[in-house]
Amino acid sequence: MARFEEAERRLLNKSVCMSCSATNPPKATRCRKCGGGNLRPKAKESRKQ
Ligand SMILES: [Zn+2]
Repeated sequence: MARFEEAERRLLNKSVCMSCSATNPPKATRCRKCGGGNLRPKAKESRKQ
């Protein structure tokens, strides 16, 4: 579980652009790839086990 937690934390530490799906730094307010402001945090609950 700890292992998964670590991986999850890494995933949570990103924002994903809704427009181009690029990953951005969590603090980014705009996508570094397309410049769009449609960032969302990575899913907080992963379905992967
Ligand atoms: Zn983008």
